[in-house]
Amino acid sequence: MIKVGILGYGNLGRGVEAAVTLSEDMELVAIYTRRDPSTVTVKSNAPVKSTADLDTGKEDIDVLVICGGSATDLPEMTPKYAKLYNVIDSFDTHARIPEHFANVDKASKEAGKLGLISCGWDPGMFSLNRLYATSILPKGQAYTFWGKGVSQGHSDAIRRIEGVVDARQYTVPVPEALERVRNGENPELTTREKHTRECFVVVEEGADKARIEKEIKEMPNYFSDYDTTVNFISEEELKKNHSGLPHGGSVIYTGETGFDGNKHVIEYSLNLDSNPEFTGAVLTAYARAISRMNKEGATGAKTVFDIAPAYLSPIPAEELRAHFL
Ligand code: NDP
Repeated sequence: MIKVGILGYGNLGRGVEAAVTLSEDMELVAIYTRRDPSTVTVKSNAPVKSTADLDTGKEDIDVLVICGGSATDLPEMTPKYAKLYNVIDSFDTHARIPEHFANVDKASKEAGKLGLISCGWDPGMFSLNRLYATSILPKGQAYTFWGKGVSQGHSDAIRRIEGVVDARQYTVPVPEALERVRNGENPELTTREKHTRECFVVVEEGADKARIEKEIKEMPNYFSDYDTTVNFISEEELKKNHSGLPHGGSVIYTGETGFDGNKHVIEYSLNLDSNPEFTGAVLTAYARAISRMNKEGATGAKTVFDIAPAYLSPIPAEELRAHFL
């Protein structure tokens, strides 16, 4: 049995909890939280423990799945715990991946442990598909579309506006852009031409809706580069119709081969009812790989690019060769 610990119990922590519990070759040893453990109720039978227990380095776990937030938690947490355990995280701030990798690499190498960073679907499964496609068709172009799905970061940004009670923001790919890419037209697309943003906003009674709508649409980095629609709805409606965390998207790659320019389109799409449950399932498969590879002597930081696919599966290699090749 692979002994797994989870650090941080938010949406993703709950997703990993479900995936590990449903994996027959894994045992969920404990869920660790920075909060008072007695205030955190979990769905499985796993005990909830304090990070103080984890800090001793003595917890009996093969892999620690770190489920903190990318913005501020993971840059600190992953290098810290890489000194003590095999670790895996879902760090998704793309621009800071090289720096995060270097920090985790140093910590885990010194400790003789293995640390996998930036695992999930993007970065993660989408990254793998971009790499496969560009390796096979070096003459080509990758397009990534996200959605339709809830962006937590954009929803949070709306919630910070004065007079807003709650909000949900969906990122939606522009159908015409998808179509042109699938047709192999290789279009040059601006940010605005690729995605639109749909907002569902609950405001305080008497709030100035026109001002709130303007503030959303003009928010730099988040909304100003997109065509954004703002819908004001009631709290009940938000709970009823927008409480899930669906997401998904597509990596579409168009490329050419041969001397006559034959065209090829590769598409990998995800349509997810629950972003955190799916991301948790990806992390769980990769946690299996990390545990196995460290037992074989591998140390340092890795990304999904470094993990051979057979390590992800609980199915024995000879069975994989017989039935999945
Ligand atoms: P959450 O905000 O739900 O949780 C983050 C942390 O906040 C938790 O680990 C938890 O730590 C703490 N927390 C959660 N709920 C509460 C609460 N009620 N009160 C106080 N603290 C709380 O984030 P998500 O789980 O949704 O996402 C985590 C990260 O996963 C994101 O930042 C994102 O970057 C990444 N991600 C990556 C993907 C990929 O494809 N690579 C896909 C999806 C997400 P503690 O228990 O210690 O308090």
